[in-house]
Amino acid sequence: MKLAFFGAEGKAGSAVVRRLEAAGYDVRGIELGDEPDVAGCEAVVDFTTPEAAPANVRAALEQGVSCVVGTTGWEPAELGAFAAGKGLRLFVAPNFSIGAVLMMRFAREAATHFPRAEIVELHNEAKKDAPSGTARATAELIGGGPEIHSVRLPGLVAHQEVIFGGEGQLLTIRHDTTGRESFADGVLLALEKLGDLPPGLTVGLESLL
Ligand code: NAP
Repeated sequence: MKLAFFGAEGKAGSAVVRRLEAAGYDVRGIELGDEPDVAGCEAVVDFTTPEAAPANVRAALEQGVSCVVGTTGWEPAELGAFAAGKGLRLFVAPNFSIGAVLMMRFAREAATHFPRAEIVELHNEAKKDAPSGTARATAELIGGGPEIHSVRLPGLVAHQEVIFGGEGQLLTIRHDTTGRESFADGVLLALEKLGDLPPGLTVGLESLL
């Protein structure tokens, strides 16, 4: 299967591309300044920046190609409607790591027993948006407007704790991404299921699990 990949040289993109190629995908990397030519590709993947992703996705949809997007910090609703009008799919996930999605699922369950929670998300200092898309999605999922604390330091990859406080007890649910290869599991799953999704926008890996 032929893929176009925006951000193939980036930290996340390069790790994901290695795994996609090992899985047999023929990947065409498209870098900043390249013509966004995705003709002949069956899908487009984007791991770029919140500023670049909307234009990349629009260019792909205009060329009739569905998209899988990992870039966080942008609002995909309008392009989801554009995709639906063309009978195409736009799949966006704030976190492509299956472990992180399970962490969110377990947090949702814990929230039914512990109404007070705060979220701590920790990422490498190069991450441009804060709070992270995963933290915002977790907050929405567990409800109650939990406080989100963002830490940006060298040495970190992508980590999140959801801390629940009750009378005389604490429950911490934590996920650590130690290597960016972990995002490829979710991207592979999204590419496999993309054609089965309804046209338009689908958000979150949990909708595929
Ligand atoms: P990064 O290392 O800065 O990589 C971004 C890459 O995109 C760079 O190679 C950059 O090129 C390139 N780029 C920028 N504008 C572009 C354009 N218009 N067309 C093509 N390529 C372009 O950042 P990262 O850590 O890989 O993260 C990338 C994005 O993915 C962020 O939004 C991050 O939050 C997100 N992310 C999501 C997940 C997930 O699971 N959903 C996981 C990891 C990261 P230059 O260096 O030349 O500017």
